[in-house]
Amino acid sequence: MNKYLEQLIALSKLDKEIDDFAPRIAKVEKMLKLSLDKERELKLQVETFAADIADAKLKKGKNEAHLAELSAKLKDISKKSALVKTAKEIKALQLEEEISKEQCDFANDEINRLDKIIGLKQTNITTLEEKIAEASSESESIKTSIDSQIQAIEEERKGVYQAKEELLSDMSQKILTFYEKIRKWAGNSTVVPVKKQACYGCFMRINDKTYAGVMKQDDIVTCPHCGRILYKEIEEAKA
Ligand SMILES: [Zn+2]
Repeated sequence: MNKYLEQLIALSKLDKEIDDFAPRIAKVEKMLKLSLDKERELKLQVETFAADIADAKLKKGKNEAHLAELSAKLKDISKKSALVKTAKEIKALQLEEEISKEQCDFANDEINRLDKIIGLKQTNITTLEEKIAEASSESESIKTSIDSQIQAIEEERKGVYQAKEELLSDMSQKILTFYEKIRKWAGNSTVVPVKKQACYGCFMRINDKTYAGVMKQDDIVTCPHCGRILYKEIEEAKA
């Protein structure tokens, strides 16, 4: 194979690998982000339940204060009832007593209802806290695994950069300029294989003469349609 063509194929592979590192790292980091998001979400839920509990306790306190007032009032009524004389006064006191007792019932019902809410939310918080502990240990283990994965990727990246540098030092500036010019618009498909007599950059069929040139591998051949650099596909060579 033409030496320059061989270098171009190698260079395009290295460039593609270099471009792939960032998404590979992002993918690994996303795993950790998802796990941390889950943990944060659970903590927010706990905060909501805690706020609900605080609210219910406040309401309960108000009802308890009201109950104390009512109980004082009832004592007062029973004192007064010993003193009143007329039927009208007795009736008025009885009515007052009835209303106060109803209010007591209502306050007691409210306190029971609020106690149930507090108990339920407390159970929810306990469940959530177990989940938070699980999520947190999961994040922790992901973090450890990510650190080593990223380190491995960084090592690999160093190796690829070094290989590219070595290759570049060996390449002619003219060939490199030619490659870079195509790469500006073609990106990682600057050097593409030919499969079934078609350019794998633009997927157009190439003519017999160009195809024969690609198959010989003596020269650098570009696609007559798009201008990308073409090479004979290795699998095809094996077949
Ligand atoms: Zn093409």
